Amino acid sequence: MKVLIVGGGIGGLALAGFLKQKSIDCVVIEKCKQWRTIGYILALAPVAVKQINALGASAVLANSAKVQGHIIKNASDKVILEKSFDVYEKKYGPTCEVEREELHKTLREVNKDTEIRMNTTIAALDETSEGVNVTFSDGKKEQFDIVVGADGINSQLRSMIQPKATTDYSGATFWFMWVPKVTKIESIVNYIGEGQLVGLYPCKKRDKMCVLFMVPRKQHSITDPKESIPFLKSHFRNMKGHVPTVLEHLPAEPDAMYHHDDDEVHLRNWYKGRIVLLGDAVHALSPVFGLGAAMALEDAAVLSEELARCDNHTAAFENYKQRRFPRVHKIATMSREVHALFRLYEVPLLKKLLYKCTIPFASRFFKKYYKNVNTFFQDDI
Ligand SMILES: Cc1cc2nc3c(=O)[nH]c(=O)nc-3n(C[C@H](O)[C@H](O)[C@H](O)COP(=O)(O)OP(=O)(O)OC[C@H]3O[C@@H](n4cnc5c(N)ncnc54)[C@H](O)[C@@H]3O)c2cc1C
Repeated sequence: MKVLIVGGGIGGLALAGFLKQKSIDCVVIEKCKQWRTIGYILALAPVAVKQINALGASAVLANSAKVQGHIIKNASDKVILEKSFDVYEKKYGPTCEVEREELHKTLREVNKDTEIRMNTTIAALDETSEGVNVTFSDGKKEQFDIVVGADGINSQLRSMIQPKATTDYSGATFWFMWVPKVTKIESIVNYIGEGQLVGLYPCKKRDKMCVLFMVPRKQHSITDPKESIPFLKSHFRNMKGHVPTVLEHLPAEPDAMYHHDDDEVHLRNWYKGRIVLLGDAVHALSPVFGLGAAMALEDAAVLSEELARCDNHTAAFENYKQRRFPRVHKIATMSREVHALFRLYEVPLLKKLLYKCTIPFASRFFKKYYKNVNTFFQDDI
């Protein structure tokens, strides 16, 4: 079998690594001329950590921060929920925060013998009973047995096989950035206020930590990145706890932050004919959890297993979807539930009432939310 992987991100390179282990021939194409070094922090659930080890990429885990738990606070720094991951770690293994750039670099090393064609995309695809005839952007033509779209949230492959599929906009904008390590945190810490969500993520490095700010789109009109810093300082000025110190240390250069509308992708059809999708191309998630990479790694492991096990691609694709869909769906639901709480504060009539009973209301909400937690920590896929 000869596989074409479109996209050399986390999911594409992980799949290439797993296919190599199973002696399945593959080529990766990547649209960038050279690898981009931007990136912040990614959370790896225990089962994704397992995949890193299985890929022989465990070196990256030595530089990762082990997440001790999840703390959710309100704007006044009152704890709404505190969940230790100790019991889950004993049962399933650690949850780790890794830098995207380091994970990507390690996956490139795993794939040092794989053919990766940079600055290349697909110009045309023609599927026959024999395979897929691919015309590349440089005009070259080649036939493959299957094509995997691992080309991220704005997937070209997705639009080729499902032209009507659109991204779902959550209605919020996020800013991701590195700041100096103004406090030592070992848990993921979220602050939730009125139209305000802050995420602080542990990082192994001594000098930096990663911060996420999220704001409903209708509460800002920022288009020029230069306006971001004054806006964030003003919008989050009432928040207590670590937030004021973080605001004092925002990067001076707007280019040093990643500013984006929060789009998600939820597809029911994961494949068509000989083309299958993986990672963000089929299920992009909100960055609130940063679990996109974990899900892409797990997809890669399952798809490679099914391709090695099944005697035809249709059975392999269907098994892959059946095994992955329920888990991805639950994780996406958890992420939308956090959004729901965040969005409730936007409703003017409810705002005062909700804000008054923030703690009892939200803690009930999060207890329910953490019922899904076994999905997050489960150790098989
Ligand atoms: C540069 C970068 C930085 C990121 N930083 C963060 C972060 O800090 N925190 C976080 O939570 N998430 C981040 N993400 C998203 C996160 O990496 C993904 O959600 C997750 O890893 C899922 O991986 P994926 O392989 O599905 O998609 P991605 O990792 O997005 O990889 C997709 C790859 O496909 C390539 N590509 C796109 N279109 C084409 C095409 N038509 N032909 C060929 N190649 C194509 C892209 O250049 C990219 O290399 C980042 C993504 C990128 C690309």
